[in-house]
Amino acid sequence: MDIDPARPSALPTALPAGSSACVEIDLAAIRANTAELKRRAGAAEVMAVVKADGYGHGAVASARAALAGGASWLGVAQLEEALALRAAGVDAPLLTWLYVPGADFTAALRAGIDLTVSSVWALEAVCRAVGESGTVARVHLKVDTGLSRNGAAGPDWTDLVRAAAAAEADESVDVVGVWSHFAYADEPQHPTVRRQAERFADALRDLDRAGLRPALRHLANSAATLTNPAVHYDLVRPGLAVYGLSPVPQLGGPTAYGLREAMRVLTSLALVKRVPAGTGVSYGHQYTTEQETVLGLVPMGYADGIPRSGTNVGPLQVGDQRATVSGRVCMDQLVVDLGPSYAGAAGDPVVVLGREAQGEPTAQDWASATGTINYEIVTRMGARLPRILLGEGG
Ligand SMILES: *Cc1c(COP(=O)(O)O)cnc(C)c1O
Repeated sequence: MDIDPARPSALPTALPAGSSACVEIDLAAIRANTAELKRRAGAAEVMAVVKADGYGHGAVASARAALAGGASWLGVAQLEEALALRAAGVDAPLLTWLYVPGADFTAALRAGIDLTVSSVWALEAVCRAVGESGTVARVHLKVDTGLSRNGAAGPDWTDLVRAAAAAEADESVDVVGVWSHFAYADEPQHPTVRRQAERFADALRDLDRAGLRPALRHLANSAATLTNPAVHYDLVRPGLAVYGLSPVPQLGGPTAYGLREAMRVLTSLALVKRVPAGTGVSYGHQYTTEQETVLGLVPMGYADGIPRSGTNVGPLQVGDQRATVSGRVCMDQLVVDLGPSYAGAAGDPVVVLGREAQGEPTAQDWASATGTINYEIVTRMGARLPRILLGEGG
């Protein structure tokens, strides 16, 4: 396809042969974003968070690109996600943090996965797995400093510290890390940010008094990595920013932080037709044409991850013009009013989301239009969309 330099996007919008829509993943962007985060992290190491299939970008490819960019750790929520990375041959240091009783800690220890421990039950289960596997567990204790989600707080933290010190003394576990997570990192001036940092410092003193001095203290997600160097400690845990999205859109987009979006979602028009004024469009006729106009049919819908709440508000780039979803987003398709003078045809390229710097609609634009966050827009892109990887191996 010819690229006209006058187009708002200088990026190619061609689909792979035989596809009606795709998710393009620029691994070079993931690598460069990680390098930028590493630069900002200073002396701290970078753990690239690749949970939820790398925020929809593909966990294994994203992990490799982030490691190439200077990450020395990987993080995932679920043990199953960690085991899948190991099965794919990813052997970098790897931390996981969310389990229920019955989790296969023995498999985790055999695979050399670091385990977060947030409770005495989890520590006891890890110690049983140590007995079965004959491998000393590397654990990171999680303290709840005010998110009130996972992690131990109050007397539970006191009990956990005591139990962990005993388990380290009998050489079942090696307490290599301690960590917590912010409730308001995306609002750097929020008073809870300082309060949580203070509680974290208190927790470090608790560990010290118990004779535990983990080398890896970590607290910062993407937002805190970008906005709060005081909490970088030994390791930062960015997720969203690795993929080139801003965790603080009210402060600045990706370009403002030296990042670029790794994901673009591309398709092309399946049909173009002229309709009279007063034509009801899509299910429930939530949109009616005001004038004679040209409608385009976009072969993507909520089954592909386009939010149904994008009805009448979702932003698109069709050919070289901006447009807005017209009428209901359906399961597999949606319609867009292209205006009376649209001269294009079926096959015209559609950018559903892409790069801020190229003037394309972004995940953030979709999030703002539909009342959610950019995280949700990228992680929900559907499994039936082929992932096209760019910049592999470079
Ligand atoms: C998801 C997650 C992160 C990464 O958060 P971002 O806001 O995407 O940077 C870091 N730490 C924990 C515990 C997480 O669950």
